Amino acid sequence: MEISPESRPDLESGRHLHDLIRRLYPICRSITGPGVRETLSILRDHIPLTVHEVPTGTQVLDWTVPREWTLRDAYIQAPDGTRVVDFRRSNLHVVGYSVPVRATLTLEELRPHLFALPDAPDWIPYRTSYYRESWGFCLAQRVLDSLPEGRYEVLIDATLADGHLTYGEYFVPGSTDREILFSCHVCHPSLCNDNLSGIAVQTFLAKELAANPGRYSYRFLFLPATIGSITWLARNRDRLDRIRHGLVVTCVGDPGRFTYKRSRKGDAEIDRVVPHVLRAAGVEHECVDFTPYGYDERQYGSPGFDLPVGSLTRSSHGRYPEYHTSADDLDLVRPDSLAESLRHYREVVRVLEGNLRYRNLQPFGEPQLGRRGLYRSVAGWLADASDEMAMLWVLNFSDGRHTLLDIAERGSIPFGRIRRAANALLEAGLLEEAAEAA
Ligand code: ZN
Repeated sequence: MEISPESRPDLESGRHLHDLIRRLYPICRSITGPGVRETLSILRDHIPLTVHEVPTGTQVLDWTVPREWTLRDAYIQAPDGTRVVDFRRSNLHVVGYSVPVRATLTLEELRPHLFALPDAPDWIPYRTSYYRESWGFCLAQRVLDSLPEGRYEVLIDATLADGHLTYGEYFVPGSTDREILFSCHVCHPSLCNDNLSGIAVQTFLAKELAANPGRYSYRFLFLPATIGSITWLARNRDRLDRIRHGLVVTCVGDPGRFTYKRSRKGDAEIDRVVPHVLRAAGVEHECVDFTPYGYDERQYGSPGFDLPVGSLTRSSHGRYPEYHTSADDLDLVRPDSLAESLRHYREVVRVLEGNLRYRNLQPFGEPQLGRRGLYRSVAGWLADASDEMAMLWVLNFSDGRHTLLDIAERGSIPFGRIRRAANALLEAGLLEEAAEAA
């Protein structure tokens, strides 16, 4: 197979993304506890993020930071002494936030604590019980069906005690204090697409942007879902007006088509930039309206905050068969899918960075481009008639009111071409930057 110049760096970036996922995969994460800390400490090998610890009992908006959960071991031992369910084989076996238990039970007594998927009998489901005290095990239906009657020994060696909620934050300053927010959740155990793919893509995006800062400042949050974003919002309430655009990053590693979920506003700049990038790349995608469920976009988009935060995923929340099961594994997320997602995120940032307003300094009649070497030039990119077209669009609509994205959309021209045309016109002294509209 021939490798195009674009796909060569993608192959390598895909491998790096997948390697990071593989490293994070075995860790038993939850909304609090050592798994989140270990995850963040691995990410610190890539980016110098700050780890915040918020004590149990802290009031955050309408919520309270919960007790910290630590799981050491768990199993179910059958009457013949074999461990039919063993946490050491998969951390999905234990219902997240299970209270400790050590008991001997009949199969009938045990059954209400066992969860399986009759429709996918080989997969272990992922379940949690964060805000209701209980315990349970998840297992393959096939294993559940094979359990003989008798007495079972059950152990969940866990601690639920006062401690902290942990989250990671990485801030990359730009030339202004206007921010682009990226947020991913870090609270799922061994689940790849829902959780680890977002963590990996966000980490590598942060690394790239830190090496190449722009006019925006970038803020990257690595949080336990719901309680983490609520905690962050509560602690940063007086600074939220700096957030001009945002994306929740998750489910970006499967081969499914892209989905863009609009912000609650629906017509924010980010809601136009992401579809433009996907369209220009010629990839299959779907745009859906904001809904008050899914991931942390619903906290950023709660009515009191109403931040312009959308979510760019591949297969979306709950809409792929492997979702919240052991089949969301290292095979479901693919290096090429991860690299492609990172590429689109990178392009979204490039468009946001370049989406400015200009004023045509020769607005009476068309300025003579030929005299300035901008028309039918044989050298370089200007040989292309569509670049001339892009210049005419930029000149005509650069009246201080239209952004370059407005112009790109109106002329059905990819943003990159419009941006290049604006750069050439700036260089020729035909444009000046207009102040940003309030
Ligand atoms: Zn999930």
